[in-house]
Amino acid sequence: MKAILLTLLIVLALGFFFRNVLSFLKVMFSAKKKSFRADNIIERTKGFIVYVIGQKRILKNYTWAGVEHFMIFWGFMIITFGSIELIVMGYLPGFELFGFLGGTAQENFLLILDIVQALVVIALVMGVLNRTVIPSGKRREVNSIDAVVILGMIFGLMLTDFGFRASKVAMGIEPQSWLPISSFWASIFLNNLNASTLAFSAEFFWWFHIALILAFLNYLPYSKHSHVLTVVPNVFFQNLEPRGKMNKIDFENLPDDVEHFGAGKFEDFSWKDVLDAYTCTECGRCTDNCPAWATDKSLSPRDIVTKLRHFATANANSEALNEEYLPSEDWVTPDELYACTTCSACVEQCPLFIDQMGKILEMRRFLTMEGQLTGTAVRTLQKLGSHGNPWGFESSDRTPWAKEKEVPVLGNGAGDSAEEFDVIFWTGCFGAYDPRGQEVASTISELLKEAGVKFAIMGPNETCTGDPARRLGEEALFQELAMTNVETMNGFKVKKVIANCPHCFNTLKNEYPDFGSDVEVVSHTEFLNQLIKDGKLKPVKDLDETITYHDPCYLGRHNKVFDEPREILESIPGLEVSELERSRENSFCCGAGGGKIWMEEEAPRVNWNRFDEIADHGVETVAAACPFCNVMFEDAAKYSGNDKIKIKDIAELLKDSLDLPVNNSNFEKLASDKDVESKDSSSEENEGSPQV
Ligand code: SF4
Ligand code: SF4
Repeated sequence: MKAILLTLLIVLALGFFFRNVLSFLKVMFSAKKKSFRADNIIERTKGFIVYVIGQKRILKNYTWAGVEHFMIFWGFMIITFGSIELIVMGYLPGFELFGFLGGTAQENFLLILDIVQALVVIALVMGVLNRTVIPSGKRREVNSIDAVVILGMIFGLMLTDFGFRASKVAMGIEPQSWLPISSFWASIFLNNLNASTLAFSAEFFWWFHIALILAFLNYLPYSKHSHVLTVVPNVFFQNLEPRGKMNKIDFENLPDDVEHFGAGKFEDFSWKDVLDAYTCTECGRCTDNCPAWATDKSLSPRDIVTKLRHFATANANSEALNEEYLPSEDWVTPDELYACTTCSACVEQCPLFIDQMGKILEMRRFLTMEGQLTGTAVRTLQKLGSHGNPWGFESSDRTPWAKEKEVPVLGNGAGDSAEEFDVIFWTGCFGAYDPRGQEVASTISELLKEAGVKFAIMGPNETCTGDPARRLGEEALFQELAMTNVETMNGFKVKKVIANCPHCFNTLKNEYPDFGSDVEVVSHTEFLNQLIKDGKLKPVKDLDETITYHDPCYLGRHNKVFDEPREILESIPGLEVSELERSRENSFCCGAGGGKIWMEEEAPRVNWNRFDEIADHGVETVAAACPFCNVMFEDAAKYSGNDKIKIKDIAELLKDSLDLPVNNSNFEKLASDKDVESKDSSSEENEGSPQV
């Protein structure tokens, strides 16, 4: 009779469970954007071992929550064996899962099970403390009924297993010495009970445990704890492409029924986006590290993911699933989407490899290509379209500083072939037009000359890489600029490029191959560091200052160039380098990326937040390796009235430490002339200037 009842319960529970799974799969595959993720099986398997089995990201940065989760995860793995044993006992009373191994194998198993269950109970208490008394800065978890139900169910599973095994100990069926915790329970609660009461107690806890397992299985798909079921495929099918690379829209092979671009409706997302949404545990680590959220903007990357899940759940069986628009005032608002700096801190922090930024950029693409981008960024895009740079300057004005420094310009006095040069220096629009950017470009040129590198720039033949256009959502304009640049580079037979702007670096390196480029791209920090290692640049002068390094998002987190800039600083005599608390993978954005430098930003601004951290760090100089960061910090310094901290590019510090002849060019005059033009953001003509 017991076996029949158990079978009925199991069949019923599994029936409901698979019905839920099927309806989830139906929703998941109604998201139609293609996403092929079955390549590179070895890398994916490694990811599964390190991040699921090893829980590496869970433990990173958040020790309390990490240890708590580690204990629950591994506890569950082991307890599952105990639960299997209990289920089989319904058919074979007295069944021992590891009895077939002989010796003390079964007893050892019971001992491990007993201790692990106690550890899981401790982890549950840690979970409650994490949601209640741990200081709020580290308490990002959402306190919901869902969390209470799940924690309660796990606690119930432990309690009922202890109850069952304690009853067996009291009955003399299970060995006391191998079940210390259950024995302790028996000595407190089951002392002096007669045999039939103990038998009833064992039966009661057994049924309760089985019912809880089956209820847990069926509650999971409705809960944020559905990640228990989805985490393995979600981590296995993670994005292995460079993080800074956006998908190309194939305008030449569009389907006939295309209504819009980007992600407007649910079907415009991919199956992996939906899997992401159902895998999110709402731990809030992404939001905790988001610069937009940290500066009181409406964007929370966690909410972006959960809104997609709520949208799918709310509309699962209705036509609204593929009719309603997600980017809208009802679901994900334009304010949220345009607040993103594309810094990728959220993606970096998510323990489950959810791509919050990718979803934001696809929805932003939809909005912009539907004409919903407003404000100063629109003017920037117009100038990119008309002049190939965000200010609308003439392309012939890209080179005056280079003439002063006698830097060869391809196609403009330096021949038509890059084959005569070791490398082409991609100055970017900041290096071409912005006064500070010109100073840095000029410094890099001097360093290259000093090291005997044969290089040229492309001058008027270079246009904006299109990074701001793509990140703001204007894909067609980006592709136009990308194709122009690739054609030019291929025409000049360019093989290797140095870029000092991390945004150019990322686009040239990761995105231009989709447009026919096979140029090798290195950042100036990598190139200069190699010149030092080769003995071609010798930092000898003692700079005697305290300094910190700010990791630009598109150099560091997006492209993993963390060590080279630090190695350059370490090679300079007299520099005392001190790391910021938020550094390397955990660096905090300057606020400029994702086209934000061209948009108005409400106070408090992201760059103020980062600059305050630098100022509080007590150093004399902050080194960056990005023209955007330099501009953002200079603005923040002005705003805060702090004129004590020097803001320098790594290349400038390196140059200061070399034993070079004094330079008396009229570069500074050029810079100040340009300053008047580019900094007057109040004039209509200069709406395309950085909005800092
Ligand atoms: S990419 Fe950066 S700004 Fe955008 S949501 Fe993620 S953390 Fe926030
Ligand atoms: S997206 Fe990732 S980091 Fe953000 S709340 Fe969900 S699980 Fe946590």
